Amino acid sequence: MLLIDCPYCGKRPELEFTYGGQAHLARPSRPSELDDQAWAEFLYMRANTKGVYAERWRHARGCGRFFNALRDTTTDHFQAFYKTGEAQPAAPVPAAPLAHAAPFAPKRTP
Ligand SMILES: [Zn+2]
Repeated sequence: MLLIDCPYCGKRPELEFTYGGQAHLARPSRPSELDDQAWAEFLYMRANTKGVYAERWRHARGCGRFFNALRDTTTDHFQAFYKTGEAQPAAPVPAAPLAHAAPFAPKRTP
């Protein structure tokens, strides 16, 4: 089981948390002035990062608070947890790719 380190409560099982999407998104100050394309991009377009990604999480079955985390999407390992409003910490250098992470190449049979 994955453990998530809530900045307010400490390490808890992942079942107590809900994923909140990409972190550090700023809502437009005047959304009514945006055209449909700009509004749709704000609502639906998110980064699809391969590697370290800043995410928003909520300790839904605990303190109920939101916080941010850095997670490497290639390994599913968390690298940092920090409170909402705090600056994003510098990401550690990503680990070398695993030997079994080579692209899949199907074998051909004669
Ligand atoms: Zn908590």
